[in-house]
Amino acid sequence: MERACLINYVAPEVMGFTEDVNRFVGEFAREDRKRLIPFGSVHPKRTKDAKRDVERLASKWEMGGMKIHPPHQLFPANGYVDGRLPSLRTIYKTAERLRMPVMVHTGTSVFPGARSKFGDPMDLDDVAQDFPDLTILMAHGGRPLWCETAFYLLRRHPNLYLDISSIPPRRLLEWFPRLEEIASKVVFGSDWPAPGVPGIREEIEGLRALPLKEATLERILSTNAAKLLT
Ligand SMILES: [Zn+2]
Repeated sequence: MERACLINYVAPEVMGFTEDVNRFVGEFAREDRKRLIPFGSVHPKRTKDAKRDVERLASKWEMGGMKIHPPHQLFPANGYVDGRLPSLRTIYKTAERLRMPVMVHTGTSVFPGARSKFGDPMDLDDVAQDFPDLTILMAHGGRPLWCETAFYLLRRHPNLYLDISSIPPRRLLEWFPRLEEIASKVVFGSDWPAPGVPGIREEIEGLRALPLKEATLERILSTNAAKLLT
């Protein structure tokens, strides 16, 4: 394994994660910033200056990306459209200007207190159009309820990419039977390191065992991510 993204986000209500996760992952990745790519977070309901805080992720902590987790952060990914979360618009706009990819959780979450209604990937239809130069990584492809919606959006928006973390390899082609059609937009991801969750080697071996073209595997495991992440 050449490089790894370390995904973190602020979600005090559901997960107990505060802004300290940015320092934590920033310091950790500093040990070998070439191989370790930290992802941090700015919470639109908690930040007092969204522009400054996103810029700080880039400048102070050298973040390679940001994560937004609607079901754990308790707002919709397009929560800025009705004017309720203006700081969320600033977060996207600043990330777009800094060329910082934003990973957005889609799909359900069984964590106590999580609100799965915010996992519908259709909310990204707004984000992808309103911020056309923003690279958006759709985490988990809306699994297991909204994979068709996810596939539609991935084909529709050039700036939208699929991160297959937390999709069991044996389910991948069941949920995305036309995966080959979007081969240039799919990025491998492991799952959260929790008890009972398969390790990264197992996930990669499972993926390699699928009837996919060798070129597609190469893209999913390496070249697509190399293009998107620094
Ligand atoms: Zn997630």
